[in-house]
Amino acid sequence: MEAEKFLQEIAQAVRQCTKCGLSNSRKNAVPGDGPADARIMMIGEGPGFHENEQGLPFVGQAGKFLNELLQAGGFRREDVFITNVVKCRPPGNREPLPDELSACQGYLDRQIEAINPLVIVTLGRFSMARYFENAKISVIHGQPVWRDSRLIVPMYHPAAGLHQPNLKPVIMSDFARLPEMIQMVQQAPKKEPPTGDPQENSTQLSLF
Ligand code: URA
Ligand code: SF4
Repeated sequence: MEAEKFLQEIAQAVRQCTKCGLSNSRKNAVPGDGPADARIMMIGEGPGFHENEQGLPFVGQAGKFLNELLQAGGFRREDVFITNVVKCRPPGNREPLPDELSACQGYLDRQIEAINPLVIVTLGRFSMARYFENAKISVIHGQPVWRDSRLIVPMYHPAAGLHQPNLKPVIMSDFARLPEMIQMVQQAPKKEPPTGDPQENSTQLSLF
């Protein structure tokens, strides 16, 4: 229950937050949604129109596609913790700015600490950038790496599949491999590969 309480405190702080300019235009902040003991955490970009209206993540078109992707992988949405790198809607759905990302980062850090998930799925470029500096999503999508004793899986943002129909099957097949990755993590000893050396990472990647 400690984690649950910690998460609720973070959510409360987010709802009252005025650390960046997005607080001026938001209707509802969107702290995130899901159980405190979730083994999978998914991190998107930021709330859009519907999320801002409802205070919940991924409830618009991209959310519908995300639900389909989860369902196809045999996951229940209510078992996954879903949040974003910025908790308030950028006006007109523009990209979050660097100062907004850094102002908001502490909330996500604390959510990850509270939940301590086995697997983090990054959805799109902005959450990918937390873990993969200067990486291109078109190159690394669907390829998991070990970080901080957990698996980080960079995925395309579901909205990318809605805007570029040719990406839809790619996203679906990346998600279809998630159950296999999770099974692997559950069986793996809880430790990192010996070094952060890129060779080690590629060894790890070849497992999939
Ligand atoms: N897109 C995101 O990145 N996050 C949401 O919550 C909804 C759409
Ligand atoms: Fe605070 Fe994050 Fe909302 Fe900015 S986006 S006001 S930092 S909760």
